[in-house]
Amino acid sequence: MFPKVRIHVDKIRHNATYLKKLCASQGVDIAAVTKVVCGNPDIAKVILDTGVEMLADSRVRNIIRMREAGINAPMMLVRIPMLSQVPELVDHVDYTLISELETVKRIMQAGGKRKTKFIFMVDVGDLREGLWFDDARETLIKAKEMAGDRLVGIGTNLGCFGGVIPSVENNERLLEVARSCPFDFEIISAGNTAALPLIEEGTLPGGINHYRLGESLMLGSDVTGSRSVPGTVNDGFIIDAEVVEYDEKPSIPIGKTGRDAFGGSPEFEDKGIRKRVILAIGGQDVVPDGLYPVDERMEVLHASGDHTIADVTGTNREFKVGDIISFRVSYSALLKAMTSSYVLKEFVV
Ligand SMILES: *Cc1c(COP(=O)(O)O)cnc(C)c1O
Repeated sequence: MFPKVRIHVDKIRHNATYLKKLCASQGVDIAAVTKVVCGNPDIAKVILDTGVEMLADSRVRNIIRMREAGINAPMMLVRIPMLSQVPELVDHVDYTLISELETVKRIMQAGGKRKTKFIFMVDVGDLREGLWFDDARETLIKAKEMAGDRLVGIGTNLGCFGGVIPSVENNERLLEVARSCPFDFEIISAGNTAALPLIEEGTLPGGINHYRLGESLMLGSDVTGSRSVPGTVNDGFIIDAEVVEYDEKPSIPIGKTGRDAFGGSPEFEDKGIRKRVILAIGGQDVVPDGLYPVDERMEVLHASGDHTIADVTGTNREFKVGDIISFRVSYSALLKAMTSSYVLKEFVV
């Protein structure tokens, strides 16, 4: 059955092992972020086997999925919680990122099996979640009064809304907030994948001791830095799609053109007659922009909900209906593929 995502467990194991060691060299513990694989318990177990101690996910549902598969490792919720999910959160989540006192209050009131601990988020410039760094102190003091020992850390997130690149300067801002408080924090959770360069270069300010890693661990990429992370591999997840048509056609449409199926205005370059395949995969299965042909001589031209067209002229190969073409994927394409019920998931061990 196609499309299919092949999950090469050994490659994920490699990345987890490598990143754990890299971060440990600077005194940084990592939480492996499993949201892109919807908290798949088999992948989570492979990661835990490498010695990574904590898992993190954005959805309580994914955390429950891992718990139900018998995983008892500490788990962190990385999307600041909805009040409506507090009752189930407190039985499954060990650490939650937080940015509202009201949520702290409700979690404290709810009790629960896990005695959920708090990492208060501080915004040091990216403009997504967290207390604005300049006036975080007062709120953190209030949070401490409400949560006591259960306020264990502060954290920040960069590279997600504003695309702000983690730097020595913005990490210092986070540490400054920690120092301004009349109590200590056990965990200072600064990073996601975008913050890895600070560790690779050895410039991470001392005191930061926790990273939350998803993209680099699963895919070996860093979209904010537009790079592959050295030492990791990027083919742990491969998508196979099936050819439903192979033909030669002009590279420019004939006739007056309007918008394409999704309202876009595609542009065309005249390359003469080209060999093209139509693949039975589209926006309902992946983010087609994030499909990278394993054979780099192919080029994805366009996609709609169910069809993707690729120019295969460069391969000097003939194709036929039923052939399978393989792609590496971007993080967003992988997220869609793992979430889509139309895509088969196959483990390769
Ligand atoms: C998704 C997420 C991460 C992981 O980010 P990557 O770039 O995939 O490493 C870390 N922190 C938060 C708050 C997240 O939402």
